[in-house]
Amino acid sequence: MLNVLIIEDEPSYLEALQITLEPEGFAVTPAPDARTGLSAIEANLPDVVLLDLMLPDLSGLDVLRHVRRKSDVPVIVVSAKSAEADIVTALELGADDYLTKPYSSRELVARIRANTRRVVEPEDDVITAGNAVLDPGRYEVRIGEEVFSLPRKEFELAELLMERQGRIVTRETLLDRIWGINWGDSKSLDQHIRRLRRRFEKVEGAPVITTVRGVGYRLEP
Ligand code: CA
Repeated sequence: MLNVLIIEDEPSYLEALQITLEPEGFAVTPAPDARTGLSAIEANLPDVVLLDLMLPDLSGLDVLRHVRRKSDVPVIVVSAKSAEADIVTALELGADDYLTKPYSSRELVARIRANTRRVVEPEDDVITAGNAVLDPGRYEVRIGEEVFSLPRKEFELAELLMERQGRIVTRETLLDRIWGINWGDSKSLDQHIRRLRRRFEKVEGAPVITTVRGVGYRLEP
């Protein structure tokens, strides 16, 4: 059973989350403010944290900073703040995902599952996402019967997106990790995403790379 810590001060939201999550087999621990939430994490590390941003004592971003100093527990921000800048800041501070209120229960459950999935990587570092298999030894991605030999940057892009499948990867992360700190112009990223998408689209049932406008990309397996 997965333990979900919910740091949320609004009782109606908290109750709605409990009603959604408990029947799905999650054990819910509620925390009505930041300090209670942080003590709960100290006492017993949950499998995932759902974090509101506007809390009565500290801001959710402060909570995130505290948590990240000590732990890499998955944190999903659930907030009414939907501005691009808020989403980017939270992701840069180490949030694994961001869901804006109001959200659909099904999406919430899917995001929790995606963020708590231990990506099982065999020794040769092969990564699987849906019917796609990425093989770093060969710089190849196999999707169903198709085998794509990818140029280096496209391969690295596929690797990062597949590693974090179901989660948002920001443009900044992709540019920093693949192009390095002196990336300058980000048009190249868009071109590579486009090429990768075109390859994936050739195969039925292949993972889909969706654009999270102004923020980044997400590979849906
Ligand atoms: Ca709140």
